[in-house]
Amino acid sequence: MISMTRQSVAVLGATGSIGGNTLDVLARHPERFSVYLLAANTSVDHMVALCQKHKPAFAHMADSDSAERLRMALPKGETEIVTGADTLCTLVQSPAVDVVMAAIVGAAGLMSTIAAAQAGKKLLLANKESLVMAGALLMDAAEASGSAILPIDSEHNAIFQCLQANERAVPDLRGVSSIILTASGGPFRLWDAAAISRATPAQAVAHPNWSMGAKISVDSASLMNKGLELIEASWLFRMPPSKIEVVVHPQSIVHSMVRYDDGSVLAQLGNPDMRTPIAYGLAWPERIDAGVEPLDFLKSGPLEFEAADIERFPCLRLARESAAAGGTASAVCNAANEVAVAAFLDEQIAFGNIPIIVENTLAQVSNQEPESIEAVLAQDHLARQYALSEIKRMRKGH
Ligand code: NDP
Repeated sequence: MISMTRQSVAVLGATGSIGGNTLDVLARHPERFSVYLLAANTSVDHMVALCQKHKPAFAHMADSDSAERLRMALPKGETEIVTGADTLCTLVQSPAVDVVMAAIVGAAGLMSTIAAAQAGKKLLLANKESLVMAGALLMDAAEASGSAILPIDSEHNAIFQCLQANERAVPDLRGVSSIILTASGGPFRLWDAAAISRATPAQAVAHPNWSMGAKISVDSASLMNKGLELIEASWLFRMPPSKIEVVVHPQSIVHSMVRYDDGSVLAQLGNPDMRTPIAYGLAWPERIDAGVEPLDFLKSGPLEFEAADIERFPCLRLARESAAAGGTASAVCNAANEVAVAAFLDEQIAFGNIPIIVENTLAQVSNQEPESIEAVLAQDHLARQYALSEIKRMRKGH
């Protein structure tokens, strides 16, 4: 039966790739959803267009100058323009919000994601970095408030769907033997190590199957994205990292799989289009049209699978090791990677330096118990400082 209550949605990271796909799905179902809040950082022109189209009650710009420019650009009255990190958390927790799409990129998305979980919102989680940095704290907050976390990463959404098919709550009680994350292999799948090391930003962001933001595209090219997803899956599905397999599947049609003790493997398939997991998250437990082209098996060609190569893609190994180490290791891994990727995109370092920076930072910054958000942020800060010093050292060496 279709639920008739209109859900009010906050889209954080509205000007990004996930934000755009979310707004596309929302616009297809005006009878089900209304847009309450749009949030971004500095993309003023894009936000002007979004506010004109979706008419949110609030638009939040993290950058205060951009908030001022947005205020000047929009007619008074329809949308209130706000700024400030605390204001964003307060708005996300407002009783007027039912659903939060957490799609700010990187560590900048952590506090608003935690705020949504604390307030018991239906949380559509695209910002994997929140779980990588503070998995225990985020999962505990959601459990305490009754917040439902719907994974938006296509792999985790696929696993969620495969587990839902079994209708039981705890993975290790329902005969799950492992989770299989599929990886496209990225643009450098067939390149040798020396060529990968010299790859340019333009080559790294040219993903073969998915259209995504720059940071996650670079992470896909280094397989750090798969590593972060491994950590994310371990928190979401309470699985030890040793029970999470990674297999390269260049067609990106099988989005991930669950292996059961009786020999069954359940998979979720579809065209590579983020509107599928977004629509699933928005409508769950129902299903709605996402505007996605149906998968045509007669045209999709063969489905191939191959091993992930951690020699050519050491970031996957580093993330797996961080997950196994526990504590704040994965937050440190994430922070060092974010700094290294930004420097790579800025053409300050070579692609091959990204894993070196992450590995050296993990060796230098101590692993702590993640007792509070403050403790996690302190290690995140130390890791960023160390990674920056590594970048300086590398640039001097050139
Ligand atoms: P984009 O780079 O396309 O968009 C990032 C969004 O975050 C923009 O709206 C940007 O605003 C906003 N933003 C950046 N910095 C800040 C800040 N300091 N404060 C507030 N907002 C900020 O990223 P994606 O949409 O690709 O990815 C978003 C998240 O979803 C990431 O965590 C990514 O890992 C995850 N994800 C993405 C997938 C994809 O297909 N793209 C797939 C699975 C997960 P502005 O434009 O103003 O800078």
